[in-house]
Amino acid sequence: MRKPYVAGNWKMNLDRAGAVKLAQEVARQSDGRGVEVGVAPPFVYVSAVSEALRGTGIHVAAQNCYYEASGAFTGEVSPGMVLDAGADSVIIGHSERRHIFGETDEQVNKKVRSALAAGLNVILCIGETLDEREANKTESVCERHTREGLKGVAAEQMAKVVVAYEPVWAIGTGKTATPGQAQEVHAFVRGLVAKLYNKQTADALRIQYGGSVKADNALELMSQADIDGALVGGASLKVEPFLAIIAAAQKAKGL
Ligand code: PEP
Repeated sequence: MRKPYVAGNWKMNLDRAGAVKLAQEVARQSDGRGVEVGVAPPFVYVSAVSEALRGTGIHVAAQNCYYEASGAFTGEVSPGMVLDAGADSVIIGHSERRHIFGETDEQVNKKVRSALAAGLNVILCIGETLDEREANKTESVCERHTREGLKGVAAEQMAKVVVAYEPVWAIGTGKTATPGQAQEVHAFVRGLVAKLYNKQTADALRIQYGGSVKADNALELMSQADIDGALVGGASLKVEPFLAIIAAAQKAKGL
């Protein structure tokens, strides 16, 4: 069985004290039995949060990174720097990076390869906009994001990759894909990964769902066969809803 993975994307929220406190409380109160848990603080709090979570087994992820190792790239942070700050993971290709900051599939792919080469775990985000869904392009967009995002990534490296399916129209909007809609895309992506790699790699791949996951919809979503956890934005900024989503993952997977 795939170990479910619930990660909180804190986006550009919290301050240093609030980030450390939230991390400490998640660690103190969560019985992460059978579930992998992660948090993604803003870059400047990665060190403090990593320090607070040392030895707890909770992953710390950056929300982005650049693909070069060093140099004249003002404002950017390399995968090596993310590791050096204490994180073990990075979110790449989040829809806010793609749609607000104009990240292309090619840039996303360079970041994925560079992060993996540096030794980071990667959460690769994919997902269609509302216009794309209404134009029946959900599968073609998710295929392009997955295929292009993973270009040049070897089968052995896939153990360090998690895919997050996040329909853009469901992020921060309060609209959630129905469990059936989400399952359909997750199964499609798993099938695609089987074609790109092999069945074993596809069977082992964790595919998180993201998009307005809350305590009251998490169980039904994660009860779907191909939904292996959640990437959570808003509901990860407070201890109780985030813990409730972790508990829902345990229940959904019979842990
Ligand atoms: C996200 O940021 O990845 C996300 C899914 O946000 P929210 O849960 O707030 O929709």
